[in-house]
Amino acid sequence: MSGAGTYDAIIVGGGHNGLVAGFYLARAGLRTVVLERRELVGGCCVTEEFAPGYRASSGAYVLSMLREAVWKDMRLVERGVVVDPAGPSLNLFADGTRLELSDDLAASQAAVAELSAADAAALPRFEADLAELAGLVMPLIDTTAPDPQLRRLGDLPGLLKLGGLAARKRKLIDEALFLFSTSVSQYLGERFESEHVKASIGWHAINDSVGGPSTPGTAYVLLHDHAAEGTEEGGVRAWGFVRGGMGVVTEAMAAAAREAGTEVRTGAEVESILVEDGSVAGVALAGGEELRAPIVLSNADPKRTFLGLLPEGAVPTEFSAAVREYRSEGTSVKINLAVDALPRATGMPGAGVQPYHRGIMEVNQPLAEMDRAQAEARAGRPGKDPHIELCIPTVHDPSLAPAGHHIVTIDVNSQPYTLAEGSWDELREEIADAAIDKLEAYFPGLKRSIVHREVLTPLDLERRLGITGGHALHGEMSFDQLFTLRPVRGWADYRTPVGGLYLCGAGTHPGGGVTGANGRNAAREVLRDRQGIGERLRSRLARA
Ligand SMILES: Cc1cc2nc3c(=O)[nH]c(=O)nc-3n(C[C@H](O)[C@H](O)[C@H](O)COP(=O)(O)OP(=O)(O)OC[C@H]3O[C@@H](n4cnc5c(N)ncnc54)[C@H](O)[C@@H]3O)c2cc1C
Repeated sequence: MSGAGTYDAIIVGGGHNGLVAGFYLARAGLRTVVLERRELVGGCCVTEEFAPGYRASSGAYVLSMLREAVWKDMRLVERGVVVDPAGPSLNLFADGTRLELSDDLAASQAAVAELSAADAAALPRFEADLAELAGLVMPLIDTTAPDPQLRRLGDLPGLLKLGGLAARKRKLIDEALFLFSTSVSQYLGERFESEHVKASIGWHAINDSVGGPSTPGTAYVLLHDHAAEGTEEGGVRAWGFVRGGMGVVTEAMAAAAREAGTEVRTGAEVESILVEDGSVAGVALAGGEELRAPIVLSNADPKRTFLGLLPEGAVPTEFSAAVREYRSEGTSVKINLAVDALPRATGMPGAGVQPYHRGIMEVNQPLAEMDRAQAEARAGRPGKDPHIELCIPTVHDPSLAPAGHHIVTIDVNSQPYTLAEGSWDELREEIADAAIDKLEAYFPGLKRSIVHREVLTPLDLERRLGITGGHALHGEMSFDQLFTLRPVRGWADYRTPVGGLYLCGAGTHPGGGVTGANGRNAAREVLRDRQGIGERLRSRLARA
């Protein structure tokens, strides 16, 4: 019997994946509620005012990987999501070298040719090879990772599909295995000679990882630049800035979920997930309220879900041991600056807004230097002289700051969550000062232009966004934590050892980033389980 506080499905967390899952479940007719601990929905995909009149995307700041089906089904363009494509990315080096790379291959080749004719000649083949491998891997984003041990009959179609794909693309298998297992330094070393070119392409490898560019398993991150998807109705096919900040996306998603029938509650922190006789029974909110449902999806990360919200002993010991060892410690400090003048890069000509202002700027360094900074981070020491990324969203959307002013979003890499000495509360301002001092050398006058700043250490990101370890992707995306292995081998299909409990966040396949794939895939598995195999066979036969 259904009554107040009783649902078909409860979703813990109103991040974008929780909202996507809520949308699809409500659309299928389930009485669904999304419970978000913060006063705003969106999780890592939010816009917040960090100083009077200045708004920034607190977590994710560029959009690219949002799935086409999600764009369309949730009618995000009609709901007002506008994305401006990012400009070229500008790589700035300490020796004065400047390298602009973009989706325009000819322009990138011309820029690379200034540094190495051989590298310019090698670029088209490199891009084509990655695009081909992306064509192999990217369709898997929208599928559930099948269990290779075939413990559920339902995994058979997925395994057969995977086998078919491997057979059709068998010539690519060696290349794919190499890309997934080797280091970015080795992969790029085979193709390019210029250290500047290698760093400008390869810095991606240290994003959200404690590995350095020479760490095996980092090369595949290069595929991310080929993961973009969009929609002919106006979604974006490459990296882009959302007008109004990333929160506009999740506000539109919440509106779509509500319209489909989902209740979306904010300020509703789930204190525990209720388990009765090995199956989920609902949730208890901080404050004591209990909500009942036979299905619960957790949008929280795996550690928070299994080690924080479930009662002791609810999952087998070996499962909780695997979750404990799952790596999810963030390695970057985010700084939002409010400035009264547009920063200008040294060595770059032109007055007013230049193409590079519209893109992402990398204060870059040779891959060996990144290895050094990442090794410091692995030892628990904030990397000295780290790689820094920055962008200026107000160039795309001036409404994010008072007239004539800008916001600068900065990501300082190689900053470990677990410190060997001291605490982030003591180190926060010192690390931010050092990063801004470094940036001043590349953007003279930046320091003087700062009217306010917000510094978010990995600990602050954990506290504010509710992500364990402050890891942006709910866990590292290295080969051993991907696809059938994410978050725990044997449990990559969104189901968990607790009956009726599913995961739907970035800690599942296909991992982090604003994709909506995790939420959509998880909802599909919930509906499959509800439908039951008999019903499914009948409907399949009826369709045949
Ligand atoms: C600093 C930073 C920069 C990033 N940059 C980019 C980028 O530029 N582009 C990109 O694509 N991706 C980026 N990412 C990654 C991306 O934002 C995330 O991987 C993605 O948004 C995760 O979405 P999610 O819905 O799975 O989880 P989340 O967004 O983490 O949502 C989980 C939700 O659950 C809530 N929650 C947790 N516990 C409870 C509880 N007990 N009760 C109720 N609610 C709870 C949280 O408050 C949160 O709202 C970035 C992330 C960060 C942190």
